[in-house]
Amino acid sequence: SDKTLAQFGVIGMGVMGKSLALNLAGKGVPVAVYNRTVAGVEERVAEDFVQAHPDQPLQPFSKMEAFVQSLERPRRILVMVKAGGAVDAVLKELRPLLQEGDLVMDGGNSHYLDTRRRTQEMKSLHLHFLGVGISGGEEGALKGPSLMPGGERAGYDSVAHLLERLAAKDRKGNACCAYIGPEGAGHFVKMVHNGIEYAEMQALAEAYQLMRFHLGFSPSAVAEEFQNWQNSGLDSYLLEITVAILQKQEDGEPLLDKILDAAEQKGTGGWSTTAALEVGASLDPIAAAVMARYLSAQKAQRVQAAKVYAVEPEQLVGVPLLLVQQVKSAYEAVRLVNHAVGFELMRRASEEYHWQLDLSSIARIWTNGCIIRSLLMEELADVLKTEGPLLQQARVVEKMTTLLPSWKDVVASGLKANAALPVFSSALNYVLGYVSQQSPANLIQAQRDYFGAHTFRRVDQPLDQYFHVAW
Ligand code: NAP
Repeated sequence: SDKTLAQFGVIGMGVMGKSLALNLAGKGVPVAVYNRTVAGVEERVAEDFVQAHPDQPLQPFSKMEAFVQSLERPRRILVMVKAGGAVDAVLKELRPLLQEGDLVMDGGNSHYLDTRRRTQEMKSLHLHFLGVGISGGEEGALKGPSLMPGGERAGYDSVAHLLERLAAKDRKGNACCAYIGPEGAGHFVKMVHNGIEYAEMQALAEAYQLMRFHLGFSPSAVAEEFQNWQNSGLDSYLLEITVAILQKQEDGEPLLDKILDAAEQKGTGGWSTTAALEVGASLDPIAAAVMARYLSAQKAQRVQAAKVYAVEPEQLVGVPLLLVQQVKSAYEAVRLVNHAVGFELMRRASEEYHWQLDLSSIARIWTNGCIIRSLLMEELADVLKTEGPLLQQARVVEKMTTLLPSWKDVVASGLKANAALPVFSSALNYVLGYVSQQSPANLIQAQRDYFGAHTFRRVDQPLDQYFHVAW
């Protein structure tokens, strides 16, 4: 191949685009980089970036056509711009400049249905398109992210060697990157990753809240306890950063106490929840984590309500050391459920859309590079090799059975002590519902039949027969 041509192109020199370009260039892959220039703004983003890294095989462009011409064929272009209209705008500009067999990848947090549409649009022009879920933030992008590429297999095959070099490595040295499935499968899986991330973060927040405001721990004491958890089987990236956050001081005070308690979000947690509604899957703790962020954001109303109701956090009753152990057990159990519902959502979507997702492979990709990497994820990569629902795998059943009593105690006494525990409690409700042989849904069916003649099935008749009663 022509040595002067770049092997890989990146469009969008934002936080992620720059880090990903540096990652590949640092491994000796010649990379062409492009950023739009906005009329009237004198910024030369791509040029400035390349100038700041003179030793790297990077080539800057501010004209799309020259950028495209600088790439070896078939071209491999990663679009790393703001999700939404910006991606369509870039694709529209790119399409007439490309030739049959060229590949465009969208590495942003695009909605999987947009990715499906874009795949079709590109395919009709004989162009390959991949929706690549990317997790790991700025540092992951630079040192090795977790990659979830979805789209046409042929498109993936033409870039697999480069994506695998870009990605983080798992414990065995394999790339945290594998073909996920057709159409929007990669972005769907990234969306579920973020959903699990929301619930994992909220679960940590609830554990912190219980210790801080209902057991009287200081932030540094919570950090110390979390460190113990890290060293006893609960190690995860999110727990690790939470310890560091709790230890951070400013003028001798915990910085955490200076941060406004109103959570923001970019939407992927909510998208997971909507997707669960679309395929008819339960997603209780993830949905609860999304809603908890919304409720937190109503700061002014909460402050007012706190005055009106005068409900104060009360201390949990019991032996502090034991109570902390129970919080730990509850946290461990909640995490199992967060992951179980996330993987179950992917299983349902896989059936619905005929994606043939490999859940064990997805868990393996998530063992390094991404935000939800953890020891648990490594165990799940193994557990998920066995067919069947995660919550019914022998190892999970055994674990859950030992954790359940403490978890119930924590939720019951936490609620009594005025702690809002949306994820701890919704995950528990989910499990208790999940293990119920007899649910009260017969009453729901009767009510539906009563007011709407919606009919019901009978336990004493064949299940393909529906009945209506003149109530
Ligand atoms: P960012 O720093 O805000 O950069 C956005 C980039 O998009 C900039 O280069 C910007 O160019 C470009 N852009 C915006 N509108 C455009 C348009 N209409 N046409 C052409 N280019 C346009 O964003 P980022 O953090 O790198 O994220 C990029 C994507 O990756 C997003 O979808 C994000 O959700 C996803 N992502 C981010 C992370 C993370 O940790 N940050 C992790 C995984 C995925 P200008 O400079 O000219 O405005």
